[in-house]
Amino acid sequence: MIVMKFGGTSVQDAQAIDRIASIVRERLPESPVVVVSALAKITDQLMAMAAAAAAGDRDKALELARSARERHFKTASELLGTVRFSQLQPELEADFDSLDDLLRGIVAVGELTLRSTDNVAGLGERVSSKIVAAAFSLRGINASSVDSRLCLVTDSNFTRAIPQFDETNARLAEIVKPILGRGRIPVMGGFIGATREGIPTTLGRGGSDFTAAIVGAGLGAERIEIWTDVDGMMTTDPNLCPDAHRIKTISFEEAAELAYFGAKVLHPATLLPAIQKNIPVLVLNSRNPKNEGTRIIAAAQRTTNIFKAIAAKKRITVVDVVATRMLMAHGFLKSIFEVFAQHRCPVDMVSTSEVSISLTVDSNESIAAIAADLARLADVKYEGRKAIVCLVGENIRGTPGIAAKVFGAIPDVSIHMISQGASEINISFVIDESDVPQVVSRLHSVFFSEVDPEVFA
Ligand code: ADP
Ligand code: ASP
Ligand code: MG
Repeated sequence: MIVMKFGGTSVQDAQAIDRIASIVRERLPESPVVVVSALAKITDQLMAMAAAAAAGDRDKALELARSARERHFKTASELLGTVRFSQLQPELEADFDSLDDLLRGIVAVGELTLRSTDNVAGLGERVSSKIVAAAFSLRGINASSVDSRLCLVTDSNFTRAIPQFDETNARLAEIVKPILGRGRIPVMGGFIGATREGIPTTLGRGGSDFTAAIVGAGLGAERIEIWTDVDGMMTTDPNLCPDAHRIKTISFEEAAELAYFGAKVLHPATLLPAIQKNIPVLVLNSRNPKNEGTRIIAAAQRTTNIFKAIAAKKRITVVDVVATRMLMAHGFLKSIFEVFAQHRCPVDMVSTSEVSISLTVDSNESIAAIAADLARLADVKYEGRKAIVCLVGENIRGTPGIAAKVFGAIPDVSIHMISQGASEINISFVIDESDVPQVVSRLHSVFFSEVDPEVFA
């Protein structure tokens, strides 16, 4: 079997869903399990509804919900025609009624918990999977929609829940496998799961890729296909550099670094399950299905280019901690990291001197509280609007003089932190967020003006 995951733009409207039905039909002999995102932009809108409700703006919240309901009904009726749509409509009505109830509840209590956030945010995938399954069935694909909340068991770390793999695998074997066994195509919503007690959770924004990998690893897929709106993983974000090249093959390790450092095309956790089971991951374009995309595999082909790609991760805050009293005391770093751990705040990049430590975190609301806790240990300052730029490639190992080439290409840019060596396949550094477009495009033109045709297209 294989897993085919379709992102938001690949299911954005009736035409897009019609297109993916044709793509899935071609793969039927390989027994696909289909994972779908919410229709494009719906998760953002659900978050906006929840925020409006929390701010007490009941009318705005319900108006946004009404327009989302209409968009889904319009898409479903275009795909299904009147008779079939009328069969699905009561179920969709019930889902959207429950959304209205949730929003009213948030207004009533005047507070938005992470648990309610997940309940609202997950609606997009709950309904998209039903619409896609019904549309497939009408197009000659024997599809069954599966409620992912019954299959993906997570902890209760709402808004970025962690999958419990043993239980999830057992549920996949119990629920999804028999559907395949009957020759049917399971259609599951990505991104969503539930705790053992059945309370809805989500895996974090962009998490449908991760769902695809969890399902693929759990069911022992031969291949995991991530269908999106670009031709594959590119040498950099094509929105930043229109002349970015498609990468034909890349290693798990390289692709994981790129995803972690901002290449939005893959959710950073996607490759872990695939690596464990050594399952190839393909990134493909649902608007250009004949293109061969990017193949992510254990060992990628050697290339004459130093780097495979450049990624940039924005919304970074740099935190500088200067030890005053605890100079050189052992246990100092531990106590600093404990503060971040208590706030469940992951640290990306670290650099130390004898008396100070600089580190980066994703900008978030808890920075002020973290800084206050750190201030009990040392002097602290922090600054947002930074970005990490990361150049990735296995050729970094054992090629001398690379850092000089990178920084020589951008001599006039202020660099706040540098890191090389942790993985031996990336060089990363921190700059002001506003410098990202020019830095990425200058580096791209230096390192990718000529590309190895064996590896890049
Ligand atoms: P989906 O909705 O299908 O999950 P995403 O928007 O999450 O799609 O990811 C695809 C987008 O990722 C592309 O449209 C592109 O703008 C962005 N992107 C960032 N870096 C890269 C990269 N290196 N290669 C390809 N796409 C990238
Ligand atoms: N719909 C979710 C989001 O927009 C998950 C995903 O599409 O991967 O974040
Ligand atoms: Mg995505």
